[in-house]
Amino acid sequence: SDHDINYPVCPAKMDWTGLYGDYANGRKVEFVDVGCGYGGLLISLSPLYPESLMLGMEIRMKVSDFVIDKISALRRHSKENDKVDYFNVACLRSNAMKFLPNYFEKHQLSKMFFLFPDPHFKNRKHKWRIITPALLAEYAYCLRPGGLVYTITDVEDLHDWMVLHLNEHPLFERLTDEEEKNDKILPYVVNSTEEGQKAAREGRNKYPAIFRRLPDPDP
Ligand code: SAM
Repeated sequence: SDHDINYPVCPAKMDWTGLYGDYANGRKVEFVDVGCGYGGLLISLSPLYPESLMLGMEIRMKVSDFVIDKISALRRHSKENDKVDYFNVACLRSNAMKFLPNYFEKHQLSKMFFLFPDPHFKNRKHKWRIITPALLAEYAYCLRPGGLVYTITDVEDLHDWMVLHLNEHPLFERLTDEEEKNDKILPYVVNSTEEGQKAAREGRNKYPAIFRRLPDPDP
């Protein structure tokens, strides 16, 4: 349960230096990995986008503690070239289905990742899925126009569900096959997470999709 989760009353009240140290100064979180699990995506993307702050949100405390320890073990300040490693990634224990607008301002995020989310197979449990019409409105609020949503799952029925609801939402459109093929991040979405590697080991298909957040319509 999540009654013990601390969260800010609004984004302005969040102290990000607690997660990123001085690296948070003058920067805002741009990438969010929702239900980041053991953090494989964040760790792989960190060196590729050193200027972008990335946050993994994970509801299970044991798992978030693991990721927090892993990141702090990787962090290095190097004196020679002034480089900082892994200070742009952090993990937060939180319920992303409840508290997203407490952390992020309107149009703050440029990428959101939903990688191998829990399938909630039974019909009466579909309302617990991480992609629903109500939650898409929150994701659209936090994402900037032109921002991207990445989804992937090894459950074909869940893939169809996520694609259906994203397609139906007026603020999202799917990238063309050509655009998906040219996306630099997609290979990491497919291969870098623990669940994705497990699916590959066990020979299951993976179904990725990328959606673009469209501009707000004129009032
Ligand atoms: N994305 C990771 C990967 O690909 O390896 C983990 C996938 S795992 C099947 C789904 C994760 O989402 C679990 O670690 C679970 O604890 C987390 N999760 C489920 N609901 C969540 C929520 N509302 N907020 C944050 N994390 C959540």
